[in-house]
Amino acid sequence: MALQDILDRIAAAMAGTTDRGTVATYIPELARIDPGQFGIAVALDDGRVLSAGDAAVPFSIQSVSKVFMLAIALGRLGDGLWTRVGREPSGQAFNSILQLEMEKGHPRNPFINAGAIVVTDAVLAGRMPREVLAELLGFLRAASGDPGIHINEAVARSETATGFLNVALANFMRAHGNMQNPPERSLGVYFHQCAVEMTCVQLALAGRFLAGLPVSPPMLSQARVRRINALMMMCGHYDASGEFAYRVGLPGKSGVGGGILAVAPGRASVAVWSPGLNSRGSSKLGTEAMERLARETGWSVFGGAS
Ligand code: GLN
Repeated sequence: MALQDILDRIAAAMAGTTDRGTVATYIPELARIDPGQFGIAVALDDGRVLSAGDAAVPFSIQSVSKVFMLAIALGRLGDGLWTRVGREPSGQAFNSILQLEMEKGHPRNPFINAGAIVVTDAVLAGRMPREVLAELLGFLRAASGDPGIHINEAVARSETATGFLNVALANFMRAHGNMQNPPERSLGVYFHQCAVEMTCVQLALAGRFLAGLPVSPPMLSQARVRRINALMMMCGHYDASGEFAYRVGLPGKSGVGGGILAVAPGRASVAVWSPGLNSRGSSKLGTEAMERLARETGWSVFGGAS
């Protein structure tokens, strides 16, 4: 079946699904999003972008931003970053503080909130928060080739006003000497990076460098891309990373806005969005759509169609 037909069928199936998960409510501004939406976009190695459903509707990328901030951090700091954050799956919820106490303020990986806050803190490195946000937007705009990508200030404010767990994580790490900047500064950047808005088409385009597809200018070395993919596979869905690897078989990163970015190395960058979440904080229909796409294309990195 042609890829466009596969996408159209997936979008039609998702439109007809009533059990759509639950929209994140702990960020008040996200609680207002209509759960009836679903979009999918695929950027291919030949430069085409195919899409279906609500692929042109902007959504809050939330934790998907952690992948791009990690790419910037590795570009700036290189492997020195790994003295501050680990590379192991946590098996815990994205906002858990449990291991952080046992492991003395050293987060397990860069995709749980504690790890992402450290990565952002490392990129900030005494600069002005707006400089780092401009760098992130510049990175996303260059990677996608779309100058229209922006931050939703209302979402950033909403999370700044209510993100007490993230404040706790940052202060906990500060107590253990693992924050270089005042926590409120690093958190200010973190809340704004989570509030970046993108469409599925923009996100699929921005993910091309992670899939090893041609992008001009090149965003990151292939050696680093390979490692980010490994981290996405092992940690990109928190305590459901094993489940995503089992069901989909592609490196991926989810966000509580309902977006998921996944890459089929050498073939495609895929973005899906549906705001209703499963119990682990990833898009319910988005995960189902990724599973179906991987099955029908045979794109799993572990080989074998179906
Ligand atoms: N901004 C969200 C938070 O920090 C991101 C979490 C997510 O998308 N998993 O809680």
